[in-house]
Amino acid sequence: MDEGLRRIRIVLVGTTHPGNIGSAARAMKTMGLTDLVLVDPQRFPSAEATALAAGADDILSSARIVPGLDEAIRDCIWVTGTSARRRGHSVPPLAPEPVARDLFRRAGQGPVAIVFGRESSGLTNDELDLCNALVQIPTDPAFSSLNLAAAVQVMAYVCRAAALEHVERPPEYDPDPPATQHELEGLFEHYLRALVRIEFLDPEKPRHLMRRLRHLYLRAGLSASEVRILRGILTHTERGGGRPSNRP
Ligand code: SAH
Repeated sequence: MDEGLRRIRIVLVGTTHPGNIGSAARAMKTMGLTDLVLVDPQRFPSAEATALAAGADDILSSARIVPGLDEAIRDCIWVTGTSARRRGHSVPPLAPEPVARDLFRRAGQGPVAIVFGRESSGLTNDELDLCNALVQIPTDPAFSSLNLAAAVQVMAYVCRAAALEHVERPPEYDPDPPATQHELEGLFEHYLRALVRIEFLDPEKPRHLMRRLRHLYLRAGLSASEVRILRGILTHTERGGGRPSNRP
């Protein structure tokens, strides 16, 4: 159980108050989660964070600090964003319990992440676009926003509850493992190049179509070999198609 929980990464993006980082570390440790990544925190390390960690200092001292969300999740095979409210462009959010079961199951195959936003403004649309799925903790719609560390506590708890249910996980060895976030970004960049090349897409305004394509492929949970097949098709398309014998 603990091994699976250790593969669930908590990512805090642009945290303003160091106390929230400390409280989040404490929330994680109580539930058996250990992998904390901080994206561009405003103040860290800090005495306030250590004080509120209340003994979870080991989580703080092993936390990685990175400049952008892409770097925090590049090795992940599934990434769930969190949001206090429904956003314009985003996919419909899911409930915490099924998300936790799904994450725990997927964690058998590689690192997975739950991403939390800034205290003041949450996650940007560009950051949400990096996520495979979105979770919303059901709160009173009239007062929907939880404190950041409280949201981490709720998600860490449902992950532990999923682990306690002994959710069945796929075998550790998979001949066709899931694609990492980094491999998917390679696919999206390739798509953009190919679609511009065949003049399906105006390079001046690629955003809407690319966002739709991202959501489609992120939701699908592609394997690494499926990504290679799609990239093979794109390479062939970029070269103007033709008989398979013309392939490199
Ligand atoms: N005004 C911001 C609130 C951010 S609260 C907004 O509306 O997005 C800080 C972070 O706590 C959020 O980015 C999210 O990661 C988490 N959070 C707060 N309430 C939540 C909820 N009901 N469901 C899921 N995550 C929540």
